[in-house]
Amino acid sequence: MSKFDQIRAAESKLLLSTYDRNPILFVGGEGMYLIDEDGHHYLDLLSGIGVNALGYAHPVIERAIINQSRALIHTSNLFYHEGQAELALRLTERTGLDRVFFANTGTETWEGAMKLARAHAGLLRSEGRQIGTKFLALEQSFHGRTFGSVSTTHKAKYREPFGPVVPGVDFVRFNDIEDLRAKFSNDVCAILVEAIQGEGGVRPLTQEFLAEARALATSTGALLAVDEIQAGMGRTGKWCSYQHYGIQPDVTTLAKPLAGGIPLGAILCTEEAARAIHAGMHGTTFGGGPLACAVAIAVIDHIDQDNLLLHATDVGEYFVTQLRSLATKHETIEDVRGKGLMIGVELDSADLAKLTVAEMLKRHIIINCTSDTVLRFLPPYIIERTHVDTAIAALDEIFTQHTAAFSGAQTTHAAGGKHLG
Ligand SMILES: *Cc1c(COP(=O)(O)O)cnc(C)c1O
Repeated sequence: MSKFDQIRAAESKLLLSTYDRNPILFVGGEGMYLIDEDGHHYLDLLSGIGVNALGYAHPVIERAIINQSRALIHTSNLFYHEGQAELALRLTERTGLDRVFFANTGTETWEGAMKLARAHAGLLRSEGRQIGTKFLALEQSFHGRTFGSVSTTHKAKYREPFGPVVPGVDFVRFNDIEDLRAKFSNDVCAILVEAIQGEGGVRPLTQEFLAEARALATSTGALLAVDEIQAGMGRTGKWCSYQHYGIQPDVTTLAKPLAGGIPLGAILCTEEAARAIHAGMHGTTFGGGPLACAVAIAVIDHIDQDNLLLHATDVGEYFVTQLRSLATKHETIEDVRGKGLMIGVELDSADLAKLTVAEMLKRHIIINCTSDTVLRFLPPYIIERTHVDTAIAALDEIFTQHTAAFSGAQTTHAAGGKHLG
């Protein structure tokens, strides 16, 4: 039995069968590439689901890990260490928010944001305001897998096996202002959104919808919480995707790329929201440890030093332009959308989308498919135009070879015209 077959057999016996893994064993990485056990290089346009912002084996991350792990890895939050305030300053400056709570993962930050909204509404009630405990979330949203987060995640397949989930969540139709107005009331303690939905198919909110959410929340004292776990930390060319709208939330959450591959999450909020929290109400053992903070500081400083926000904007625009020109050639492409290096390509066939991911992998290029028909690209911020060209050539070849077999029969959008503007 090969080493790979041994590992696969052991996993299938020993692990919960939550994942349907690709049959590849990665043992290393370098820059934009993952390296398998036979030394094959794979161009990674997914960066471990939006995590490896600086790619693999980046010297800045390596140095931060070596230095900090020699000094101090963990203290618990019973004591001070050098990293939290320094990182919090960088995050507050970049998000326009005032205070930070550090956690470990995306879902943990979202749980904390929901608890903060409930606690804040409780504080307002104690001050005589009329405000309830309900949450409004959006259809197609994804906020994580723990109970609170999964309760605000729209897809039934994530919630239903675990029911009853947390009650008091209403889902608003995506970008439907009338539905938002109809469902909003004094009963709502927070409106919960992603400014650009990730899992939901790389779908941006409209300016009007986010502005209305902001106005409604302000009118009652409810919080507007924007989940930036996937879109934040520079991926879209700005530190947070809500900054493209010029609209400030009361709360935001960061995680995936925050510490370049080391688990770290952060909840950020306004001074007003922070009034609701006092010592002992919320906490975490590992969150904001010295190692994760040191790496996050190094990642942020490197993003600034190498102008990677500008680079993400630039290469992202090039990527989208190339994809749109591919769309003029291949009918199967229904839409190309995204900001910076968060890009989705919607196909007219779920089967073709699935096949495309597999065919790309055969060509040693990693992408994924979300919401059945959307090819998703979340490359490291260090991607160059030549990597884009490689991906476009591969997609062109795959669509040329395989579209015929799927067109018509598998169409999922009956009369959908192209939206390439
Ligand atoms: C990935 C993701 C989460 C959950 O993060 P985990 O670290 O997997 O818990 C929440 N919200 C969004 C928008 C995400 O993309």
